[in-house]
Amino acid sequence: MQDCIFCKIIKGEIPSHKVYEDKDTVAILDIRPINAGHTLVVPKKHSTDLLDIDDEDLKKAIVVVKRVAKAIKEAVNAQGINLGMNNGKAAGQLVFHPHLHVMPRFENDGYKHWYGKDISQEELTKIAKKIKEKIN
Ligand code: AMP
Ligand code: ZN
Repeated sequence: MQDCIFCKIIKGEIPSHKVYEDKDTVAILDIRPINAGHTLVVPKKHSTDLLDIDDEDLKKAIVVVKRVAKAIKEAVNAQGINLGMNNGKAAGQLVFHPHLHVMPRFENDGYKHWYGKDISQEELTKIAKKIKEKIN
């Protein structure tokens, strides 16, 4: 993809702080980290997000996520690790090439868990049925 920033990074056309690379996947430091060590695991092949990524690329990426998470934990003495993936504009996606955020966390680092809404048992039953019907 011509104007995809992550494709450009993968091709070496723009600089990045690469912490891991193999045939199919790279991991680079996020330029605006939530904490130092925040890393993006990026499949090399271009697609848009979780919904159209190739299954094999996704499998390879998640294994890299685990390896990178362990390395980050040791490198910055993280007390916890969050994984994140924003898919679609409404979910906050800014770069439309799939990437998984691996984020080191510390007690009292100021970030809050997202909050849940109340929901009835009836609503849960209804939405579970709808989702089940759509899974293929
Ligand atoms: P999102 O698509 O919401 O997951 O956000 C894209 C993420 O990529 C943000 O956390 C940015 O800080 C990060 N980012 C954007 N451009 C670069 C870049 N050139 N190198 C490293 N990280 C980047
Ligand atoms: Zn791309």
